[in-house]
Amino acid sequence: MTRPAFTCPVPDHHSTCPLESPDASMNILWVETVGTGVVAHGAVTTTLLTAVRAAHPTRYATLDGNSLTIWPPAD
Ligand SMILES: [Zn+2]
Repeated sequence: MTRPAFTCPVPDHHSTCPLESPDASMNILWVETVGTGVVAHGAVTTTLLTAVRAAHPTRYATLDGNSLTIWPPAD
């Protein structure tokens, strides 16, 4: 089953958002947004985490087990 199309809510993409790429879709089971924050669950690789950090240089991104989080802005 294919994950539904996902539109990243982070407004300041540095480039094409890795979370919206077909490669990411193969690994991520589901994604939810919390404001302009993002939580992605699945077999998230450190390569994807690195790509996410590169695409969102103003955001703090963490990987905890199977959960990748792009945190909302601090203020
Ligand atoms: Zn994004």
